[in-house]
Amino acid sequence: MQLYSTNNPNLRVSLREAVMAGMPEDKGLFMPVDIPRLPEQFFQNLASRSFQEISIEVAQHLLQGAIPARDLDAIVERAIDFRAPLVRLDDSIYILELFHGPSLAFKDFGARFMAKMMAYFNRNESKELLILVATSGDTGGAVAAGFFKTPGIRVVILYPSGKVSPLQEKQLTTLGHNITAIEVDGTFDDCQSLVKQAFLDRDLTSSLRLSSANSINIARLIPQTFYYFEAYKQAMPSKGPIVFSVPSGNFGNLTAGLLAKKMGLPIARFIAATNANDVVPAYIETGVYAPRASTRTLSNAMDVGAPSNFARMLDLYCSTWNMIRADVVGFSFSDEETQEAMRDIDKTYNYVIDPHGAVGYLALRKYQQENPCTGIVLETAHPGKFVEDVTRILGHPIEIPSSLAELGDKEKRAVSIKANYPLFKSWLLQNA
Ligand SMILES: *Cc1c(COP(=O)(O)O)cnc(C)c1O
Repeated sequence: MQLYSTNNPNLRVSLREAVMAGMPEDKGLFMPVDIPRLPEQFFQNLASRSFQEISIEVAQHLLQGAIPARDLDAIVERAIDFRAPLVRLDDSIYILELFHGPSLAFKDFGARFMAKMMAYFNRNESKELLILVATSGDTGGAVAAGFFKTPGIRVVILYPSGKVSPLQEKQLTTLGHNITAIEVDGTFDDCQSLVKQAFLDRDLTSSLRLSSANSINIARLIPQTFYYFEAYKQAMPSKGPIVFSVPSGNFGNLTAGLLAKKMGLPIARFIAATNANDVVPAYIETGVYAPRASTRTLSNAMDVGAPSNFARMLDLYCSTWNMIRADVVGFSFSDEETQEAMRDIDKTYNYVIDPHGAVGYLALRKYQQENPCTGIVLETAHPGKFVEDVTRILGHPIEIPSSLAELGDKEKRAVSIKANYPLFKSWLLQNA
């Protein structure tokens, strides 16, 4: 498998280089040179295969021997060790629950697969790999859980003090072992700036082996293709074309779906479902891409004003607006509409959906008004992750998974620092 940069189609790097670097030096994004179609036989036998078997086959096909089969199988089996069940609401609406992993959000797929793959590429190094990540909330929990107890890798996660939810903070600060949380007296931008300075600091890069667990790493995108095949398998008895509605922020999830389609999965359309941060639906409508500062909403993991994977979407369609529009439609919704939908789904179907999934549901409903189809909504997080909002909106208590409930009793451990680079640097030099 070879990869190029969306900024330079002539660049060629190996999977190992792309995964360990995260991003090309030209600030583009890595893309596979070949996205081969799966053989017809794979689709014929889909129904009889387990999620893990499907994931292994897709991974082997896409990676084309970049990792020996036996090692790749082990990576997939260890990373994808939880379910992605499809829940039927009615004959035309299904919910794909992507929240059965350790941090209860779909980001577990990407984070776990990236962790196992990095550990594999790092396996013969004698010196520890130090991963630095800044988080505004959700990514940190998935990365912490994904790398927990990974041999040879230590993770330092910076988060802004008082600016992540109490539950998110617990997900970052209670694991221990190879995971260290740093509580920064500042904003998310301060955290990101500290990490960026560290990567540019020769004193650090000469003495430590640094890497990032960036959300744009190709190793996070690859496993997100797996569950589109799994969802298709579970929905197969249904009639008509199949459409996926994807609640989107940075558009990694939707881009993975486009890769699955390119590998031959017969998906009729993708629906880009957003909150008020609607730069991609606006692009699909007008052909003009106008990134801007993000607006805060109820579905805050989608509060992105300049989606990083948009460059990959353009690249897949040779930057041709009409080609993108043929495969992707977009709709955006307000917080009021989102809350209304959550209550509606609760009443009509007795199903509790989180605010992100509710945006996906609204978009599917809107699409179906003019396009009859079987629709699958990606439910990206467990509603229990947003228990305060969800119980307030629905007006009744909801079920909380035991893993979340137990977090409350665990002790928070974090290193507190000011948003000051020399302090962060000296902490790293002394402790890493
Ligand atoms: C990250 C996230 C999203 C957005 O996913 P992208 O791949 O960035 O579009 C949606 N919902 C939840 C719950 C998330 O954590």
